[in-house]
Amino acid sequence: MMKIVTIPCLQDNFAYLLICEKTQHAAIVDPSEAIPVQKAVQQHGVRLTAILNTHHHWDHVNGNQVLKANFPELKIFGHESDRGRIPEQTEFLKNGDSVRFGEQSGTFLHNPGHTSGAVTYVFGKTAFTGDTLFAAGCGRLFEGTPAQMYDSLNLQIGGLPDETELYFGHEYTEANLRFALSVESGNAEIQNKLTAVTELRSSGKFSTPTTLAEERRTNPFMRCSSAEIHASVKSKEPGHNLSEKEIFRTLRELKNKF
Ligand SMILES: [Zn+2]
Repeated sequence: MMKIVTIPCLQDNFAYLLICEKTQHAAIVDPSEAIPVQKAVQQHGVRLTAILNTHHHWDHVNGNQVLKANFPELKIFGHESDRGRIPEQTEFLKNGDSVRFGEQSGTFLHNPGHTSGAVTYVFGKTAFTGDTLFAAGCGRLFEGTPAQMYDSLNLQIGGLPDETELYFGHEYTEANLRFALSVESGNAEIQNKLTAVTELRSSGKFSTPTTLAEERRTNPFMRCSSAEIHASVKSKEPGHNLSEKEIFRTLRELKNKF
């Protein structure tokens, strides 16, 4: 069994401590800071043996160096194309590779879009999406095309089972749901989730994880076939019929200005 501990970092980042309960070995996803991670490692009395970086941005890798200095046996995973961009990286993931720590064995999805080397780590019915998928949203397109991000979200992550729990990189859920409502105001599930998340946040709790089933119902970037979203986007880009990928591109542009 694998236990997951959410560690809030910086302003709104999440690192996740994954504990192999049988061996008490642990991996940390996206340590943006070393100190809160080290505290959690001590608190849980586990042996940290791996860092799983979802991409190279500083607010996901900033703790790598200090952690590597303090835990020299650490294996540091990232996509092979992030060589030279993830500090202290030791494992360079390419198609078909597995990701192991303790007795846990996972896989990864290559998800270009937010960055060219972005990955989602998958352990059974649990996935760590970094800045590719957020609850009700997706990351900005810094190094990829809208078509790549569409595929990363809808084909790759979207190809996982409905009940998969998705742990994401930032607490952006309230703002994302407000944007989602602006393009699909008739979707009661978005309104219901916004009410629930607002309550959760006001009591100091976090909105991670979500599930793939919930995202299919509330994430506009996974709902490009929705007639209402089509109509909202078309009113801003009148004149021609839009493909799902064009709707996706326009949604991402609208979100940038929201
Ligand atoms: Zn990022």
